[in-house]
Amino acid sequence: MPVLDNSKPDSLEPPKTISSSSQCNLCGSTEYDVLSKVGKGNEPLNTVICKKCGLVWSHPFPVDPFNYYQKHYRIRYKGTFTPKKKHIFRAARAAVGRFNLLKHLLKPRWRVLEVGSGGGEFLYLLNKLGYDAFGIEPNEGYAEYARSEYRLNIQTGFLQNTQFEENSFEMVTLWHVFEHMDNPADILKKIYSFLITGGLLVIEVPNVETICQSPNNTFHTAHLYNFNQSTLSRMAELAGFAVVEKAIPGDGGNIRQVFKKNGAGPREVQGEIDGNFERIKNIVTRRTTLKHYFSHYPYSRVLNKVRQWFSEKGASNRFTSGREILDHLMEKIDRNSLSQD
Ligand SMILES: [Zn+2]
Repeated sequence: MPVLDNSKPDSLEPPKTISSSSQCNLCGSTEYDVLSKVGKGNEPLNTVICKKCGLVWSHPFPVDPFNYYQKHYRIRYKGTFTPKKKHIFRAARAAVGRFNLLKHLLKPRWRVLEVGSGGGEFLYLLNKLGYDAFGIEPNEGYAEYARSEYRLNIQTGFLQNTQFEENSFEMVTLWHVFEHMDNPADILKKIYSFLITGGLLVIEVPNVETICQSPNNTFHTAHLYNFNQSTLSRMAELAGFAVVEKAIPGDGGNIRQVFKKNGAGPREVQGEIDGNFERIKNIVTRRTTLKHYFSHYPYSRVLNKVRQWFSEKGASNRFTSGREILDHLMEKIDRNSLSQD
């Protein structure tokens, strides 16, 4: 198991320096343009875009991310502090899906770190399949639930103030976590420092170019940064990673990329990305509310949500614990298809 340098209780303290949001975290430019002034639920939220590379972020940051995630995030988004059965069911289905996406890359007994391990569903699955899974989760309620329900190795806290030794992991995953980081470029450098050479980094984030969200739902208070394919890849390349796989799955709402740690360290890559500012600005500003409601997206999304609610409620009621739900869903994984060497 990887060694933590700061397993003391004070590791829950937020880092002392929160990066300024007036400078682009990717290319360093201070030239930006306002992209939107409202966030989800019509809350005021100033979103800007870098004119040199197209990185999109909230300026100023609307929340103190550390305090916010530790205590409030789950309550605000799910209305609960520890996971309800229907949420476990949904997260467990997502975990099986995520595992299926990565199983061709995973090797037996790999040490995998999940940053933002939530209720622990993905880690539980990895452990059961023989991988050495480790998690970091800022929300105390979720982390404690996952430790007690599944006996998982989870550190409560933030990656920003957790130290791992070199060569601690073969894979690191960030499923819908990277957009919440206050200094994503630093996070990538940090992961680079403790991943083995040749190790893999998996990142999934919302796609700022999506057309399946209503314009008023595109920017969230909790998402400090917004990416398209180009800004996500370039940021990782600057930290020394090479892109191995990239995808915009399903309805185009998310970006998923897999990176490999090069042995040579950070490369001389330019932060600026020609044409990306114009491209994103064009897509976002042309995405009007009226156009959105003339497309099929809002209707199919509502229909899917209603269907999902009924199926999760019905299915999760059959089980008495999170462990039962996960064990049941894991039967769908074809273990013979896993790499044996
Ligand atoms: Zn920039």
